[in-house]
Amino acid sequence: MIYLRPHHGLCIHHFIGKGYSDTFIFNMKNIINILEDNSNSKITLVSCEDDICGSCPNNKDDSCLSGQKPDYYDRACLELCGLNFGDTLYWQDFKKKIQTSILEPNKLKEVCVNCEWLYICENLYK
Ligand code: SF4
Repeated sequence: MIYLRPHHGLCIHHFIGKGYSDTFIFNMKNIINILEDNSNSKITLVSCEDDICGSCPNNKDDSCLSGQKPDYYDRACLELCGLNFGDTLYWQDFKKKIQTSILEPNKLKEVCVNCEWLYICENLYK
């Protein structure tokens, strides 16, 4: 089981090997491998520190130095996908929801408002 903040489904989708630190990038690759290597991998959607935050330099005393931004991204992601904090589902099903509910309708910008990494995600579609 992987614990995931909802908006991290988008970060994983657009991950190209960049991140906050070498430790963060190493952990991100590990998490992606775990999720993708087994079609039965499950995630639980959480509202606080997850398995990605655990290796992030912005994670201090179990809270994020980015303030309220990640909370907003999480809530926007959940609303568009029709999911709730605490939901457990197959990673592959969450990926499909992100694809059909956020990416295909071109709503990425609605979720990731003022995210410093958004330009990378948007460039992937150009
Ligand atoms: S920036 Fe915040 S929400 Fe994003 S991985 Fe780091 S601690 Fe988690």
